[in-house]
Amino acid sequence: MSLRLSFKGLGLVEKPREKEYDVVIVGGGPAGVTAAIYSARYMLKTLIVTKEKGGQLNKIGYIENYPGVRRIMGPEFIDKLYEHLEYYKVPVVIDEVVDIKRSDEMFDVLTSLGERFTSKTVILALGVVKRKLGVPGEEEFLGRGVSYCAPCDAPLFRDKVVAVIGGGDSAASAALLLTEYARKVYIVHRRDRLRAQPFYVRQLKENPKVEFILNSNVAEIGGTKTVEWIKIRETGKKIPVNGVFIEIGADPPRKFFEKIGVEVDEKGYVKVRRDQSTNIPGIFAAGDCTNAAGAFKQIVVAAAQGAIAADSAYRYIVEKFK
Ligand code: NAP
Repeated sequence: MSLRLSFKGLGLVEKPREKEYDVVIVGGGPAGVTAAIYSARYMLKTLIVTKEKGGQLNKIGYIENYPGVRRIMGPEFIDKLYEHLEYYKVPVVIDEVVDIKRSDEMFDVLTSLGERFTSKTVILALGVVKRKLGVPGEEEFLGRGVSYCAPCDAPLFRDKVVAVIGGGDSAASAALLLTEYARKVYIVHRRDRLRAQPFYVRQLKENPKVEFILNSNVAEIGGTKTVEWIKIRETGKKIPVNGVFIEIGADPPRKFFEKIGVEVDEKGYVKVRRDQSTNIPGIFAAGDCTNAAGAFKQIVVAAAQGAIAADSAYRYIVEKFK
């Protein structure tokens, strides 16, 4: 039997010998794992295929609004999700799904490593992909001061000066985490106020390490070997920093959705009905990659959608394959 190493150090993941499933879940974040737990409890043969365990949870700092868990780091929460999933013995394959095709009554789920899984239903829980700023220096200094992941990189900036770009919850959460390490944290936002949750904004305003640079965009990131400054477009001023955390939102994997033929909205999110079904019978979707809760992307919402998607997949299977 061949074994595959998981990315997140959560132990060895057994490569499933089985190729036929009731439910294949694409994506292993909160929506996908919740869908898997519910699906397994319906006694459906379930598989998760995901590029990495946890999805965006890998990139967020403290979670403080998931009921029953007062405060936990994103990566730590992933461990808890997978510990829970392990009880139900749902196999997890670390691989990228590159296509989904209908063959008769079933779906063929094809991966980048050449695997093919056949399933009665598919739940899309792919999450979103972080946006790039698109300024000179961003690519050049990636990993040399430019980061999209505060929990991964914050400890590298102990006693340093960093800038967080963006004004949403991700920027606020990254900035708060960074205050635990950095000497100073700038928040550079293009508007006159943050759109982040008021509780975050209050914490930031009360923190003496935080300085807001509002009504400002970053025009360039510069330095020699590593990041040394950012240039503000509006004033031309160069602000000395050692690190830049880009947190300007994320987009759904629209091209993939268009390739497999699920209907998307104008921003590329999968259009779902109240039962998380899509335009393709047998394909359901849950979490941040859907249009279900509009712009309200929350872990608790993703988890709830995953549960509903699993319930709908179960009902679909009972009805169609009775
Ligand atoms: P977001 O809410 O879309 O915010 C993105 C921020 O980046 C906005 O302030 C936006 O400015 C700014 N921005 C976008 N494009 C930009 C550009 N090209 N240049 C400069 N600034 C730019 O994204 P997010 O903060 O990543 O959050 C995504 C979702 O996850 C949200 O629903 C959020 O509530 C949720 N989330 C929740 C938590 C939590 O509950 N603890 C934590 C993290 C994320 P404008 O304001 O001008 O649009």
